[in-house]
Amino acid sequence: MELINIKGVNKRYKNGVTAIYDLNIRIKKGDFVFVIGGSGSGKSTLIKMLYREEKPTSGQIVIGGINVAKLRNSKVYKLRRRLGIVFQDYRLLPKLTVYENVAFTLEVIGTKKSEIKRRTLKAIELVGLKAKTRNYPDQLSGGEQQRVAIARAIVNSPKLLICDEPTGNLDPDMSMEIVKVLDNINKTTGTTIIMATHDKDIVNKMKKRVLVLKDGRLVRDYEKGKYDNEAI
Ligand code: ADP
Repeated sequence: MELINIKGVNKRYKNGVTAIYDLNIRIKKGDFVFVIGGSGSGKSTLIKMLYREEKPTSGQIVIGGINVAKLRNSKVYKLRRRLGIVFQDYRLLPKLTVYENVAFTLEVIGTKKSEIKRRTLKAIELVGLKAKTRNYPDQLSGGEQQRVAIARAIVNSPKLLICDEPTGNLDPDMSMEIVKVLDNINKTTGTTIIMATHDKDIVNKMKKRVLVLKDGRLVRDYEKGKYDNEAI
């Protein structure tokens, strides 16, 4: 089954820069996909269009039956509830504990308290942070903080987890741990994962699907790829 269908997408920013040219990508449910490319190749633009931070200038982006490109601004929250998003810089709330950071999203949408507890503890366990449930972000390493951000992103059981350079601030060991956490989530829950990255070691070790962007165009699409320096 297909989760994402990107058809003929172009993105031109107001200043006249075209960031994406005629992009066509299909992604199956349960896939784990890396998006790689040099700086300015369009990775962030693609990622932002998936969660409707940016709109395509033309073309279609269908995610789980929703045409994201056409979605009204007033309906964007519905899309976001079905997605999990992880950024390079964690974006945790410093005055809340690990538990509270993860539970927050569910509280906002009015989930029952018993359900919040069950789901929050499950997500924290899935990222291997059970022992730190009551800690605050500043008592955690960068890798642990990113794991909290991942738990927060999956607490609502999203169909799609979007990760924009999630290991960008981490050393190689911690980066590998984070990707193993993501791989485990992908395998145990079937959540589809799209991850934009510069991290060669990770891409080479994981042997997942690799999409290569260059100057706004998809130039390679490998089934079990590597970090293709020559294509970039
Ligand atoms: P990457 O994430 O691969 O570094 P981006 O998607 O950020 O690439 O950028 C692709 C191109 O679009 C670049 O030329 C960049 O300067 C341009 N760009 C990105 N964001 C904007 C914006 N908000 N306004 C205008 N141009 C932008």
